[in-house]
Amino acid sequence: MTDYVFAPPPQASVEVAGSTARFPVRRIFCVGRNYAAHAREMGKDPDREPPFFFMKPADAVVDSGEVVPYPPDTGNLQHEIELVVAIGTGGRNIPAASAYDHLWGAGVGIDLTRRDLQGAAKDLGRPWEFGKSFDHSAPIAPLSPMADVRSLEKGHIWLAVNGETRQDANLSDLIWSVRDTIAILSRSMALAPGDLIMTGTPAGVGTVRTGDFITGGIEGLTPIETPIGDPLGSG
Ligand code: MN
Repeated sequence: MTDYVFAPPPQASVEVAGSTARFPVRRIFCVGRNYAAHAREMGKDPDREPPFFFMKPADAVVDSGEVVPYPPDTGNLQHEIELVVAIGTGGRNIPAASAYDHLWGAGVGIDLTRRDLQGAAKDLGRPWEFGKSFDHSAPIAPLSPMADVRSLEKGHIWLAVNGETRQDANLSDLIWSVRDTIAILSRSMALAPGDLIMTGTPAGVGTVRTGDFITGGIEGLTPIETPIGDPLGSG
């Protein structure tokens, strides 16, 4: 057994619908601008440019119902509702046709974004991490195993803040399907069990503040609830 200088951190994990078992998270890949209307609202041309990716740390995951403390260094925390797919069987150069064979399941997630920091990073040609990959930046609802998933290709996707609908779209609006995304991503990096892919957000992203209550869902999957709490104190 390896002798570590201190106890390794706990394994990051997310809930599984209808089970007490949890899904261990290895990495979180995120697709940028994968719905045309959202690309347009971010000032970009939604033509079918190749998908691009960024990442969040595994331990950014937060269970549904858990309070997300308002993060530091931002005056513009934004919600992005997303379909999340979970890799159960890894692989490289996975053909789109067999991409679903590599999936363990799917769920609903929120790509919380410090939009002001992301915007500044874009303007300066700097990395996006401080806008996207901060603590508690990935609330994920309980995952459903593939046998229970109705469709990854169509279905209502929505998000509301304090009961008011902000995002309202359909998975059929995805520019790059889950199959294509897995094929393209696996040509660049070997996918592994435990990897999550957040597949991008539809239009309607907007600001949330302390005290707001975010709800969101995708037809056929367990919905998510994320309260935004006070900023953390010191320590
Ligand atoms: Mn996103």
